[in-house]
Amino acid sequence: MIYLDNAATTPLLPDVITAISESLSANFGNPSSIHSLGRASSQIVRKARETVANALEVPSRNIIFTSGASEANNQALIGYALANKDKGNHIITTAIEHPSVLNTVQYLHDRYGFDVSFVKPKADGTFPASLIEENLRPDTILVSMMWANNETGQLLPVKEVGELLKQHQAVFHVDATQVMGKISVHPLDVSADFLSASAHKFHGPKGVGFLYYNEKLHFDALIHGGEQEEKRRAGTENLHSLVGLAKALELALESIESNYQAVEKLNETLLTKLEEQKISFYKNNFGPSMPHVLNLAFPNENHDLLLTKLDLAGFAISTGSACTAGTIEPSHVLEAVYGKNSEKLKENIRISFSEMNTIDEVNLFVEKLSSILKK
Ligand code: PMP
Repeated sequence: MIYLDNAATTPLLPDVITAISESLSANFGNPSSIHSLGRASSQIVRKARETVANALEVPSRNIIFTSGASEANNQALIGYALANKDKGNHIITTAIEHPSVLNTVQYLHDRYGFDVSFVKPKADGTFPASLIEENLRPDTILVSMMWANNETGQLLPVKEVGELLKQHQAVFHVDATQVMGKISVHPLDVSADFLSASAHKFHGPKGVGFLYYNEKLHFDALIHGGEQEEKRRAGTENLHSLVGLAKALELALESIESNYQAVEKLNETLLTKLEEQKISFYKNNFGPSMPHVLNLAFPNENHDLLLTKLDLAGFAISTGSACTAGTIEPSHVLEAVYGKNSEKLKENIRISFSEMNTIDEVNLFVEKLSSILKK
């Protein structure tokens, strides 16, 4: 199988597998136990936290480990909104966020009466910071925006939004899931008060991630119980996954530039090849985007059928987000740009790369795609 669905999840790197397996047999103590086995495990958690904190250039006490970006997003949004309702009742997010943000703020609206603005991109799909500025109100307490979109790779103006929020009481949550380990991610550079990520998007294990938080903020915990994570997230730590998360992050950072260039090359090769083969297509990548994602459409081709044919031919791609692909719902991201009834919602496929892909794989993909489309 040739894997071109890296925005959904990435394969574990061999060194990550080794680190996790070694830890599975070497460490089983509960990090909260005070005997030496417990202390050894607690050291591992501490080291993983330092790895993340060093990568983000923030103090390690400001990192909460979670079960992934979904939990980190829920923790930031619910935890902050409920603890700060007296400051205002308005939340802003974009219409193209991941469901773990969209459905969480919808829940805050439905159950707690928060007024939520879901800001759409412009008609050409671009998303200038002014769209957020226009929606800011004196009672806005929270703005949540992704750094890059998981369906199109589109980079959102997090730096500009962070800058304009400095003059405002609203705190800034950034979902960095699609950029962590791929470009330099420092919450302070974009003035983020909260920042979420998931290990399995950078060749780490699934079910583990983290939330950075600005310690000046007051927010509620989502999971109550023991005193782990400075009482901000109860439950015995996911020790072995944290070993994998830290290893994957270290490796990603070591080769961050060469990995990025390798992915850029894959992206360019694919587009050049499509043109060489005279395949008619258009891109759904709006404005500056991560090279890791190509959201392409082939006029009059049904994407579900195309995806199935490519799957049978040995290529793993998707039509959009893995979290919604199991349903027959059209992409909410493309819908925000093209409108509900557009035929364009049935044509797109998402090809997403990691540096583990090769130019040969891309060439094979285009050859197969071309023969499927010609039939
Ligand atoms: N945010 C974004 C932008 C994502 O791409 C994803 C994963 N598709 C998530 C949040 C949720 O991550 P997880 O499923 O690991 O909790």
